[in-house]
Amino acid sequence: ASSNNPIRATLFPGDGIGPEIAESVKKVLTTAEVPIEWEEHFVGTKVDPRTQSFLTSESLESVRRNRVGLKGPMATPIGKGHRSLNLTLRKELGLYANVRPCYSLSGYKTRYDDVNLVTIRENTEGEYSGLEHQVVRGVVESLKIITRTASLRVAEYAFHYARANGRERVSAIHKANIMRKTDGLFLECCREVAAKYPDITYEEVIIDNCCMMLVKNPALFDVLVMPNLYGDIISDLCAGLVGGLGLTPSCNIGEDGIALAEAVHGSAPDIAGKNLANPTALLLSAVMMLRHLKLNDKAEMIHNAITKTIAEGKYRTADLGGSSTTTDFTKAICDNL
Ligand code: NAD
Repeated sequence: ASSNNPIRATLFPGDGIGPEIAESVKKVLTTAEVPIEWEEHFVGTKVDPRTQSFLTSESLESVRRNRVGLKGPMATPIGKGHRSLNLTLRKELGLYANVRPCYSLSGYKTRYDDVNLVTIRENTEGEYSGLEHQVVRGVVESLKIITRTASLRVAEYAFHYARANGRERVSAIHKANIMRKTDGLFLECCREVAAKYPDITYEEVIIDNCCMMLVKNPALFDVLVMPNLYGDIISDLCAGLVGGLGLTPSCNIGEDGIALAEAVHGSAPDIAGKNLANPTALLLSAVMMLRHLKLNDKAEMIHNAITKTIAEGKYRTADLGGSSTTTDFTKAICDNL
């Protein structure tokens, strides 16, 4: 694409700090002359009967048409008769894999400085199928659904990701010693896919052991693939290893190659509207989106400007121990481009 022929991408600024950090992303991408034209969509004020949520059908159509988007945090309004915003996006766009790279940012000191791993979480089934009921009084049941189709799909994506990103190993995280049938099927599917990727080392790690290894020596891991619940927990654990919510990006992969990047954190109502939010997580999510679009030079350039700014230490937001505003930090990144 050239600047005459920009790529269209959907942008959901979202709620709370969302609009402030989305503004930061727009500013940085414009300064870096990234050929993207944003189609901005806001969460509606009433339920759209077509989606049964505050997200309009037009918003979802925009992502389907552009096949690529960036999403700020969304706070689902409380009340009955509608679906959660994130659930609506996941279901309507078939977002089946959540990809979270976790790497130490040079210049921001945490317990480890050699973390460089990626968690890939199955996003549609497992323990989060929403099938819970009471059998008799005092006894409830929750159904964990694992299907061959969804397991093969996420395993395929994990190996594809590993190869495309020059990674050497995929670890399937499981508890198949206890959950013989469900996690057993998940592993069977991972093994099947692994056989097609002889260039990638494949291993299986039991979840409890995985947690212990992650906190003792995270450098042992490369790409991790796992069912929904394990992925939810392990990905937050990994975010904690590299500095927390303000820094970690993610990208959701959906049917027909849709990619919806999003920061991991929520709408931070405690600091919303105060020009205090750290835009790094959403910026790094935008970088993931650019890589997905094969705009690798731009992605690299923005990534380097962010890490340089944080490493210099002069401009940092409060969550990283500094006193800069969102706009000053953003300006410092633009100056480093
Ligand atoms: P949160 O992530 O919004 O906030 C947790 C803490 O981290 C707060 O102290 C906040 O100030 C801080 N924080 C988060 N992001 C930050 C940033 N970029 N810069 C600086 N500080 C930051 O979590 P919460 O308070 O549990 O949730 C608030 C709302 O967000 C809820 O309505 C929840 O449903 C929603 N939420 C949405 C998403 C999403 O859209 N993916 C994810 C999580 C929570």
